[in-house]
Amino acid sequence: MATGGHVKALLNLGLHDPNIIGRPNVVTTLMEDTSGPWMEHFAHKEARDQQGQFMADAYLSLIKGRTIIAEAPTGLGKTAASLASALAAMKQSENVKKILFLTGRQSQHKIVIDTVRKLNENRKDHPNVAIVDLIGRESMCGKLTIDRQCFCEEGVSEKARGGRRSQLKRWILEWPRHVEETVKNGRIEGTCPYMCCIEAAREAEIIVMDYNHVFVESVSDSSLPSMSIDVGSSIVIVDEAHNLPDRIKMGLEMRLTSKTVKAARFELEEHQETLARDGASPEVLEETSSVLGWMRRVENGIIDWMGENREGLEGGDDSDALVEAGELLNVFKTAWESSLSKAKWNAGYTMMRRTLEQVKVEGEDEEEGGETFCSRFLSFMDTLVRFEKSEAMAIVFDILGEEGRVTSCLLDPSVVSSGIISNSIGSIFMSGTLHPTSMYADLFGVFSDSSIERSYTSPFPEDQRPILISSDVTTKFTSRGEGNLNRIRGHIARVLDESPGNVAIFLPSYNMLNELVDQVTWVPASFRIKVETNEMNKQDVSGILRDLNDEQINTVLVAVMGGRFSEGVDYSGGVLSSAITVGLPLAPPSSRHTATVEYFSKRFGREKGWRYSSAQPAVNSVLQAIGRPIRKKEDRAILVVLENRFFNRSYSRLLPDGLTTIPSADSDMTGRLTRRFFARYP
Ligand code: SF4
Repeated sequence: MATGGHVKALLNLGLHDPNIIGRPNVVTTLMEDTSGPWMEHFAHKEARDQQGQFMADAYLSLIKGRTIIAEAPTGLGKTAASLASALAAMKQSENVKKILFLTGRQSQHKIVIDTVRKLNENRKDHPNVAIVDLIGRESMCGKLTIDRQCFCEEGVSEKARGGRRSQLKRWILEWPRHVEETVKNGRIEGTCPYMCCIEAAREAEIIVMDYNHVFVESVSDSSLPSMSIDVGSSIVIVDEAHNLPDRIKMGLEMRLTSKTVKAARFELEEHQETLARDGASPEVLEETSSVLGWMRRVENGIIDWMGENREGLEGGDDSDALVEAGELLNVFKTAWESSLSKAKWNAGYTMMRRTLEQVKVEGEDEEEGGETFCSRFLSFMDTLVRFEKSEAMAIVFDILGEEGRVTSCLLDPSVVSSGIISNSIGSIFMSGTLHPTSMYADLFGVFSDSSIERSYTSPFPEDQRPILISSDVTTKFTSRGEGNLNRIRGHIARVLDESPGNVAIFLPSYNMLNELVDQVTWVPASFRIKVETNEMNKQDVSGILRDLNDEQINTVLVAVMGGRFSEGVDYSGGVLSSAITVGLPLAPPSSRHTATVEYFSKRFGREKGWRYSSAQPAVNSVLQAIGRPIRKKEDRAILVVLENRFFNRSYSRLLPDGLTTIPSADSDMTGRLTRRFFARYP
């Protein structure tokens, strides 16, 4: 389709296609992707080939109210492109009220704000696009008092507070502001930056925020109404969308222990005392007393139930077990039915919800719906009730320390995302590792007649990022051993010998990482070694990233795939000369994993069951890790994949089409190829 830098997009809008404009389209247009309506909203002067194609595809699908799933590699310029398409689609229709740009990374917030700034600067004759940069309240508050009380507006009268808030809100809306600037200004002005962002969001065209605000019900239920956002009149852009399935699953991951039940019961007892002291009505007191009696019986029932399951696990090989949601729910039902109350379970459940929702603990902010043990207990029970008959949720029992614990594990993210996507006015899902797009369409639950899938090529020269794959090493369980480990160390040592700069090594797990660094004779004296640990915080990560910029000494960074250094971190300025991945990070055996494989096999067939639950996520983690060093056109790096399973068709076909790889038979060959590469690209 692309010729001479001009790509044409066929806009076959079709006579009866539903579209966001609310009337049938009657034209079939051949539209130049470099001069389509999106260019008016594009922050740069010219679009690159694939970027223009992406904008045309995204615009086309949005005006038809559809979803685009775009595998768009780093460097394509997908932020500016997706915003341009969405703004152009918004201008086409009064039905579109908001663009929700969702991302899990704060660094991406910054890019979105900078892009809209550039757009506003370039279009002096247009009204500025109003955008709000929103992060979690906790992160905007900075230091809260010990009991989590607010302090920014301390001592400010109601009237003055209203004035200050509306002033800061206007300031946010008049020009794109980074959230840090808003927080700083809020402090200076003595007002709440968080609430001002929420108020500004009601009037903004674009809101940049975390996935949770749309895809995690416990957050979206309160967050979206507070910003007057209706997903049904919004375009949703999901950046780094490969992370969304796990984020959705985490949103429904609830845990229950007997300690949680006990703590919830204490809270309820305190609540009852407060009600009595405040002169609550006899009906309310009676209802609270019934629920409290029920909680006491649940507590005993849960202790017995946990004990039985614990015995079932002890002595066996498994560390966890699947349990039936209905079986656990019976503990709650039995506790209710053995009460003196005449109400049936359903009525009792409603009464219990009503009572537990009223429980507040001192110091919690009502506006924020502060979490109590009662609310945690309630969320767990709501999840059990909601998914009692659904195979998409697994309930897992395991032992943590001395205590039994039960966890709700969502297996299929589409049960949450599918409805949201079809309700939105159009959506863009994009990422460099949204591979294959068909798998993500299944995981998000989008239908082929309401979506398109596109894969774009990388704009970076391929010969500046060769991928070597070694054929003599693996992390396959049955082939592990001292010989294999030494060969892995041999490959790494040769890459380090020949690399002129920093090298990052990514392993499948902390166990394997520890095995590798158990002795570090393979690290030349010209390198210092930095090792990722499970306990590292943001500051530790920033410290190591700063070390990589130290020109006095090279660093070898040893980290895990799926950890803090293999995703979402920008190794800008070509700071990595080489990236090495060791093995495949396949999910370890667990009840949750078994349930996931079975669920997907039942839904999509055996082959996809294995691919979706195990193989493809592992392969994509490898692709993510080796993609780290190349962030700009001028970057160059050698990428070494130490895993011979990539020569096996089962895994090689999971790599993106057209990926060129070079086999390496042993560490000497890896060394020679590395030397040759850096002779060409020093
Ligand atoms: S006033 Fe706002 S920013 Fe300040 S502590 Fe309270 S919620 Fe946080």
